[in-house]
Order: sequence, then structure tokens, then C-alpha cells
Amino acid sequence: MKQLPGRLVLLGHPVAHSLSPRFQNAALRAAKIPLEYVALDVAPDALDATLAELAESRASGNVTIPHKEAVAARCTRRSPLADRCGAVNTFWHDGGALVGDNTDVGGVDAIASALLGDARATARVALIGAGGSAAAVLAAAERWGSASVRLYNRNVERAHALASRFGAAVQVVSSVEHALRGATLVVNATPVGLRDDELPVPIEALPGDAAVFDLVYRANETAWVRAARDAGHRAADGEGMLVEQGALSFQRWFGIEPDRNAMWRALR
Ligand code: NAP
Repeated sequence: MKQLPGRLVLLGHPVAHSLSPRFQNAALRAAKIPLEYVALDVAPDALDATLAELAESRASGNVTIPHKEAVAARCTRRSPLADRCGAVNTFWHDGGALVGDNTDVGGVDAIASALLGDARATARVALIGAGGSAAAVLAAAERWGSASVRLYNRNVERAHALASRFGAAVQVVSSVEHALRGATLVVNATPVGLRDDELPVPIEALPGDAAVFDLVYRANETAWVRAARDAGHRAADGEGMLVEQGALSFQRWFGIEPDRNAMWRALR
């Protein structure tokens, strides 16, 4: 195992509803690591002071909304995936340097694999949303072989700005209907469905054999995932991605595999 960090934190604002402390603390206990994973509510104007304190205690941790891009900009070293996404969700200190990685991409990989199996390599993805998590989906999909993506966002300039950072396999389209044509995987990377039962895409508009991946997670899944599964689609919400990105972060911090069963049990 690597040398233990002085602290283990989640940086976000606000972070009150994150599930990460529950499953990270379960993984720490299962590995008998004497640390507590603590959520820190950090306002954007307090980020630099917080990072300075965390450097003094050689802290490691995760980063969530709205600090992922800001922390990426402040890292001394970034992994290629963090560079590709322009965002860091996992950090640690190495000889005084702040190092950043992005394990959201691995979280997307794991769920897409579970939903599509080998067909992931030739997936035709309809991606709704063009924010930070959509970037992680694009960074994942470009490693799947010959997958292609149709990207729809209500703000079309933002969709073009994101797509321009990726290859020709990403096409910006001007309607959800166009994005859905021939899709084998439909991904919601917007917060639609987070606070209520609004559906990001009507169930009847989904191609018959398309799998559904909702990055949003709620207790008892999202209304979209439940309705898609009722209509016969393979479907997953964002909880599995959240646990997997956390498990990959744990590996980066400690150099060992966490007990994923203990992490899942902590959420039940
Ligand atoms: P973000 O960077 O703020 O981007 C939000 C995206 O959603 C933007 O494209 C935005 O469009 C769009 N959007 C917001 N409200 C909308 C609405 N009412 N109707 C249509 N589009 C809307 O957020 P993010 O970091 O990508 O996160 C998006 C969601 O993914 C979060 O709410 C979270 O639930 C989920 N997430 C899950 C995980 C996980 O591990 N499962 C990880 C990260 C995120 P405009 O550009 O037009 O504003």
C-alpha cells in the first residue's frame, strides 16, 4: 500500500447530498485504513485557501460540482484522462505536487460495459447534455473502438464547444429525435429527473433495442430508468457509476482494490 495521506476529503459546494462518504468510509473500514473520508462544503472563492491547507496535510480526495475544472487548472500534474475531460474528480499529493485524475471515465466504462457487453465497441450513442459529465462520456466512448456519438444540448454553442475537443466520431445534432435515430445507447448527462420524475427522453421515442444510462441517481432509481426497464430496455442509473468512480479513486490513493461489496452494502 502507498503512504497514507494526512486527510481524505470530498470538495464540493454544496456536498450535503453526496453518497460518497458512506461508501468510501465503508471501504476504509473494510481495508482497516485508519482514516475518515469527510465532505467539505467549499465555496468557489474559498477553493485556493482550502487547497493550500490540504497541501500542508498531504491530503487526497475527490472533487465534485462546481470545482472539477478549477482543481484541474490548479494541478501540477494531470493524467491524460483528466486532460481529455478538462476536469479532475480525484487528487492526491506526490512530493509536494498536486496530482489530478478523472475516474468518472472509468465509471462510465463500467456501466456501458454492463449494459452493452462487447457491443460497446460499436455503440451508437445518443448523448443528452454537454457539461462536465458529458465530457467524461465522450472521453470514455472514444476508447471503445469504433463507437460514434450524436450529441444534443439545449444550448447548441456549448455542444459545439465540447464536440470540438473530440474527434469526428462526435456529431452535434439539433434535436433529441435526431440524436436517437439508430442509437444503441441513450445517455442522460443533464440533471433532468434529479429532483422530480421528469423524463429527459420520452420512453416511446427510444429505439426498440436501445439501452438507457441515466447519470442521475436517486433513492429507488430515477423515473426514467424505471419506465425504460418497464418498457423492456436494459437500463442503469448513475449509482453504479458513482460507486465505480469511487472504487477507482480508492485505488489511486492507496494502491489497493477496495471491497466493492462493502461499498454497495453501505448504500443499502
Ligand atoms: P453540468 O456541467 O452543470 O452540465 C449540465 C448539463 O445539463 C448542461 O448540458 C445543461 O445544458 C444541461 N441541463 C441542465 N438543466 C437542464 C434542463 N432542465 N433541461 C435540459 N438540459 C439541462 O453538470 P454535470 O456535471 O455534467 O452533471 C449532470 C448530471 O449528471 C448531474 O446532475 C448529476 O446528477 C449527474 N452526474 C452523475 C455522476 C455519477 O457518478 N453518477 C457524475 C457526474 C454527474 P445547458 O448547457 O443548456 O445549460
